[in-house]
Amino acid sequence: MESADSAAHALRFYPRDACACFEGKGVDCRETTAPSIVIQPLQLLADGDMRAKGRYDDDRCFACLSPEIFRICGIVDHHAGTRRRYTLWVCNACGSAHLGERLSSEQLEQIYPPTFYSYGVDRRRKRWVSAIERFRYYRHRFRPQCTRLLEIGSGCGEFLRTLDHVPCVIGLERASAASEAARKLGIDVRVGDVVDQTLFEPRSFDFAYLSHSFEHLDEPGAALESIHRWLTDNGELFIAVPNFAGLLPRLFRRHWYNLALPLHVSQFTPTGIRRLLKRHGFQVTNVRWNSDPLSIPMTAYFATGSMVTDMGRLVRVAMGILALLCIPLSRALDMLRLGDCIEIHAHKAGQRAEHGPYR
Ligand SMILES: [Zn+2]
Repeated sequence: MESADSAAHALRFYPRDACACFEGKGVDCRETTAPSIVIQPLQLLADGDMRAKGRYDDDRCFACLSPEIFRICGIVDHHAGTRRRYTLWVCNACGSAHLGERLSSEQLEQIYPPTFYSYGVDRRRKRWVSAIERFRYYRHRFRPQCTRLLEIGSGCGEFLRTLDHVPCVIGLERASAASEAARKLGIDVRVGDVVDQTLFEPRSFDFAYLSHSFEHLDEPGAALESIHRWLTDNGELFIAVPNFAGLLPRLFRRHWYNLALPLHVSQFTPTGIRRLLKRHGFQVTNVRWNSDPLSIPMTAYFATGSMVTDMGRLVRVAMGILALLCIPLSRALDMLRLGDCIEIHAHKAGQRAEHGPYR
């Protein structure tokens, strides 16, 4: 595709918007005067720019291998409180995107502190708050039918604890804080990096479960290689991720709640994740749109220039109430396949797909 087409695509979905909306909030605004979108097909980049892009070691989209990717600069961190701006590389062929830098271990420690929300059980949470959250998430309940299940990004094992019907459940986390909290719950959560294939014996599990953890991984392809090795023949895979092709990211772009840079390193579209899974030996059997209505009021909140760290108790309660009111709209978007979260069901295929271009 010609660069002019790339530009048209980029400007249609990501028109240049002001970078000055966070002035006065202590954000590093060094890129404020830079264009918010820079369209540079990779083959036209100078050497310096090639080094700057960081993540794309093979100069192609991580999901579909297309060389047509463009970058969006100056995206503010609304979630993790790093007070920095980030660059996102977006694929012009499949629409997937990836953070433009590899995070250092110091940065990872900062954005995933031992107090990270999924690493521990919040015992202070009121019972009625949990009941409302369960109601909001009622479509998110998924009960895998299997005998040996591995959850990657299991946190402290709160989901695994609900799987009474599965004889063997094991979690995998990169933080020891999560493993220690899981031990108190009686759940086996191991500490390790999913790309380390030696963590488990080949064919150890018949189900791999990743609920909103896949987008946090720096190397999703390497993670799929490990999962493929650990699954039995015809073992099943469930992945839930934000949908970068949904209506909210298209309308609100950098303010979209689930963009969540730098926590969400990879952004997927249905097309992109299908191609990624196929290349790593998985056959997709079903794609389902299943969004959290909280994304709608939170995206609107971020569009006003606010951040998670600005939220007081009153705002949190208001967001919870608005999320309940947004349930019908969220369900309607899911029915139209425009929701901002997708669930992928796949199984291990016998042969790896050829690493052909763009597919
Ligand atoms: Zn792509």
